[in-house]
Order: sequence, then C-alpha cells, then structure tokens
Amino acid sequence: MRSYKVLTFGCQMNEHDSEKISGVLAAEGLASARDVEDADLVLVNTCSIREKAEQKFYSELGKLRLLKEKHPSLVIAVSGCIAQQEGDRILKRAPFVDIIFGNQNIKDLPGLLSSLDAKRPEALTEFPEGYEHFILPAERRGSVASFVNIMYGCNNYCSYCVVPYVRGRERSRRPDDIVREVESLVASGVREVTLLGQNVNSYGMGLDNKDGGVCNFPELLRLVDSIDGLLRIRFVTSHPKDLSDSLVEAMATLPKVCENIHLPLQSASDNMLLAMNRRYGFLEYMDKIGRLRAEMSDMALSTDIIVGFPGETEEDYDNTVAALRDIRYDSIFPFKYSRRPNTKALTLSGHIPEDIKAARLDEIIRIQNEITEEKNRARVGRVEEVLVEGQDRSGTPGRLSGRSRGGKVVNFEGDVSLVGTLVDVRITEGKKHSLMGEIVQR
Ligand code: SAM
Ligand code: SF4
Repeated sequence: MRSYKVLTFGCQMNEHDSEKISGVLAAEGLASARDVEDADLVLVNTCSIREKAEQKFYSELGKLRLLKEKHPSLVIAVSGCIAQQEGDRILKRAPFVDIIFGNQNIKDLPGLLSSLDAKRPEALTEFPEGYEHFILPAERRGSVASFVNIMYGCNNYCSYCVVPYVRGRERSRRPDDIVREVESLVASGVREVTLLGQNVNSYGMGLDNKDGGVCNFPELLRLVDSIDGLLRIRFVTSHPKDLSDSLVEAMATLPKVCENIHLPLQSASDNMLLAMNRRYGFLEYMDKIGRLRAEMSDMALSTDIIVGFPGETEEDYDNTVAALRDIRYDSIFPFKYSRRPNTKALTLSGHIPEDIKAARLDEIIRIQNEITEEKNRARVGRVEEVLVEGQDRSGTPGRLSGRSRGGKVVNFEGDVSLVGTLVDVRITEGKKHSLMGEIVQR
C-alpha cells in the first residue's frame, strides 16, 4: 500500500483528527494521493452530529463501493463519530469496508493496517483512559494557522447532542504539553493557533499538580500569549454558562487573543433552553454579550442556532428571530433539529414537522445573510490588521488572502513574501462572505 486519501466530514475537531490520521499514515511511509481514484487506501472520517451528515456518509460509501468493484485491492477505512456510534453495524450496510475505528483509536491505525489480511474486519471503538493516545504527529494543512486540542470530550449532555456519547467524558490536556506543542508549531512557521475543545471555558477541570499545575482557561491563554513568535490566538467553542469575567478580561487585555468569539445561543426562548439542558437563560446570555461588547467594542460574534427543537412554538421561534436582529452576529451556523440516537430529546413530545423546520431555517438564513452583508459593507473604509495566510482562492499570482482579527476573510493584492506576517489593509468592498481591500503602510 503506497498512498492514501482522507475524506473529512464535520467540525474543526474532525478536521484536526484527520490531520492526525494523515500524520500517522505519513509516519507509516504512505504518501498523500490527490484523489480517491489515485489512492490505495481511502479513509472516511465521519460526523454524526445530524442525520444529514450520516446520509452524506452512506452516499459517499456507495461511491467508494463502485470504486472498489473496479479496484478490488482498494482498502476502505471508516473513522470518527459514526464509526464510534455504529461500530460493526456499518459492516451490515457496507460489508466491503475493511477497517472501522473510533475517535479514540487513531493511534491503533498502523496495527489495524498490518492485520488487514489476517482477520475479518472488526470495529475498534474503545475508550482508553486519559488523553495521551490523542497526542500524535499531525500533517497540518495550513502553514500559518493551526488547530491545537486543549481538551477532549464533553460533560454537558445537551439534550439533543451525541458528542458526549461519541467523544467521551471531558479531559483537559496538561498546560505544559499544550505550550510545548504551540512552541514547536511556531518554530515551524505557524503564526496563529485555534485552541480546540467542546467547551474551552471549562478547561482545566480535573487537572492537579501532577498534571503540571492547576490551570483554568484564562490562565492557559496567558501562557500561550507569552510564546515568542506567535501572533494570534483564537478558540472554539465557548459554552455561555461558563463564560467568566476573567475570560472577558483576558480577551480584552492579552494582545494576541483576537476579539472574536463563537458563543452558541441555540435558542432565545427560555423554555427551549431548559428543554435543551443548556443551563443558562436568555437574559444571562445577553448579559454576557453586553460584558464582551463593553470591554471590546469591535467584538466579532458568531453563534449556532437550532430551529424546530421539540416543542418549539411560533412564539419561541419568534424570540430567536428577534434575538438575531437585536444581537446582529457577524455570522451564524443554523441547523434544523435532528433526532440523534441515545439523546434525551428523542423522548420529548412535540416533535416539529419537517416542513415547518425547513421554513424556519430558510427564514433565519435569509435574515442573517442580510445582517452579515450589512456588517461587511459597514467595514468599508476601515483599516483591518490581517494575518496573511496565502494566495487567494483564485490562485492568481499577486492576489493574497488572510483573516482580520474578527476572523473575516480579506482578499487583496500583495507579494507572497508577506505570507505569515501582519499587514494593515484598508477595506474597499464588503461582500457576502468576504472583504476586499488594499494594503496600507503600517
Ligand atoms: N460544543 C459546541 C457547543 O456547545 O456549542 C458545539 C458542538 S456541535 C459539534 C455544533 C453545533 O451543532 C451545536 O452547537 C448545535 O447547534 C448543533 N447540533 C448538535 N446536535 C444537533 C442536533 N441533534 N440537531 C441539530 N443541531 C445540532
Ligand atoms: Fe454537544 Fe452541548 Fe457538549 Fe456542545 S456542550 S458538544 S452541544 S453536549
């Protein structure tokens, strides 16, 4: 076996897991293939957060079955959240799959590859103790901006969510381990890190002195902020219930921490928030937004919204629409509620018909698109600090792309020698999903 292709579905956590999978395969001497057609091994890293993600996975598997019929030596592997959730059941629907392993078993991939011919495939979905098994070499896609896991799993059990079942209980990584990883990334040219966790605000719970010291999230930000050569820090995701004043203060005072937060609201109705087991009320959420904006007037805000949660009335939904108009997020990730195995919400009464969910989703997408475009246009004339990440998507020489502190994509003309540096860019046009601009002298 000489080459591999990893197909990734889902969130940033999955994207980063795929980087680790690629790192493990590269260490085994396999080269990355351009396409599935050129690969000896195709690995599908799956997402099970919503039913649609599962449907997409099975339709991808259908295409791979046809490819395997043409090339019987092709090895097909399935990892990630569906692998963790379904295990051997995947083989019933797709007996041509050769390897199945869960989120916690990436390090076992070399062993699974070497025993391929010896036995029938059997899903490996164990949950080992601790988190050391997650620390693996990664083939990172971006050379300027990188992900760094600071914790794994989730303890929150929001009533709609499969994450605690497929990623296990929350475990925080030692602060000295995290700092070492960021330092080595900086030494290889990385200038921005995004710290990853399902709820970074509860980072540090369960750490003690034998783990390199007690440390909470604002303290971790301070440690990472002091790393020489690093220019920017972002993080996802923050659970509103755990957003503390000391985090707001750290964000406002630490120069490398960007004024950019993803704070999932889910719904602006207290009835829905209670049924979702979110453990905050709408007023508490608004109070936290107020604190963030009071300390950082140009705070960029994004959120997740679920419409059509069981029992959601017109009035509940209207509250969410009013909140979107009032808060004016820079962007949102809106979803129709999707029934997920094992979750508490499955048992709730008042499931909403699909056409109502779809109409609610369409409406909030339309409303938010208008707000996003208005906010992008309002930035015309301002000078943004941009970290240059590379050429823009067109690949035209002399066209560069980067992100503002608020996380917006900014495209402009400039020399590729600027990649990895901070430049000041005056915004000349605000588009739906990006900004255009021109470099001004620093
Ligand atoms: N841990 C993060 C948090 O608490 O916000 C994000 C976890 S999840 C990967 C991302 C988003 O998917 C959630 O914030 C939620 O809006 C959405 N989501 C999760 N389960 C869902 C479901 N069953 N139906 C619809 N959307 C869902
Ligand atoms: Fe899922 Fe809630 Fe955990 Fe986020 S905090 S991963 S939504 S259970």
